[in-house]
Amino acid sequence: MNIDFAKLQYQYQLYKIEIDEAIHAVLDKSNYIMGEETTQLESSLQEFTGAKHAITCSSGTDALLLAMMALDIQPGDEIITTPFTFIATAETIAFLKAKPVFVDIDVRTYNIDPSKIEEKITDKTKAIIPVSLYGQPADMDTIQAIADRHNLKVIIDGAQSFGSTYKGKTDSNLGDVSTTSFFPAKPLGCFGDGGAVFTNDDALAAKMKSLRVHGQSKRYHHQYIGMGGRMDTIQAAVLNVKLKHYEKDLALRQEVAEKYSKALEGKGIVLPFIEKDVTSAWAQYSVRVQNRDAVQSKLKGEGIPTAVHYPMPLHLQECFKYLGYQKEDFPVAEQVSNEIMSLPMNPYLTDEEIGYISSSL
Ligand SMILES: *Cc1c(COP(=O)(O)O)cnc(C)c1O
Repeated sequence: MNIDFAKLQYQYQLYKIEIDEAIHAVLDKSNYIMGEETTQLESSLQEFTGAKHAITCSSGTDALLLAMMALDIQPGDEIITTPFTFIATAETIAFLKAKPVFVDIDVRTYNIDPSKIEEKITDKTKAIIPVSLYGQPADMDTIQAIADRHNLKVIIDGAQSFGSTYKGKTDSNLGDVSTTSFFPAKPLGCFGDGGAVFTNDDALAAKMKSLRVHGQSKRYHHQYIGMGGRMDTIQAAVLNVKLKHYEKDLALRQEVAEKYSKALEGKGIVLPFIEKDVTSAWAQYSVRVQNRDAVQSKLKGEGIPTAVHYPMPLHLQECFKYLGYQKEDFPVAEQVSNEIMSLPMNPYLTDEEIGYISSSL
């Protein structure tokens, strides 16, 4: 058997007629930037997430920048986040000349451990950025309470978690600003780069809309230093189609995850742990194994692709050497990064494929 990790081609074939039609409608109108499809997508995203404002943008990375710029993050400000995430979470903090301050993760969920946040707060701390890793929101009530106590902002990096919920609310509808990515391999992916920011705050929404278009107030009049951060109309058109099917895709991902967990029980593998009152968007189904290299190469030999999200925690990355962190500063993140391995995950994995993967494991 040869297993496809994300089945992006399969999904395109599934929705091909609708998607081709949507793309060609954009080509016919040639409204390539911020066309009506973009406005349409933004109102559908608001409806789907329950957030008052959904603002599309050029990527999940730019979404983080928009959020921090709107919250007026300044050079020297400290922002608390997790070292066990994709580089963009901390890279954007550093890009604005603010300082990423890392906090170790919870050993079960792999999300930031709220019990270790308060000891890292100083008078320079301005915000906390929890990441909803693999699709699961962090412990948001505890994090929000800490933020409230210390007058900090909360930005959720929801790049992997679009559609996930925390106590009944989507994680786009929590914190001061929540971000997401529509990179093709994310749970809701477009056909290139794309992202969005969400907020319930009217002033922040207006500022992010302006920042997205070079900080303009009206054409060629610029109130802020902003960026070129718009989403292409073609990407919005693709997402308008895929969003209609997304509830179903999410349910299928949940089913696949449950089938995996059942099939892999008792094999001495550490399985994903989802908190009560939380649903995951299952961006990844990631397990922990002791002898990862050997396991990955055996699976590869049997036509099963795997991936490692992520092999090196951010405090050990060369680009963050200047922050002065050392090995063993965040033992949980380090251990998990040595053992974690993502199995093929998409809404269309068949029972036969899940059976094949689990018996091979
Ligand atoms: C993918 C990802 C991003 C960046 O999103 P892009 O759309 O690729 O720029 C940021 N944070 C996390 C946690 C991600 O997984």
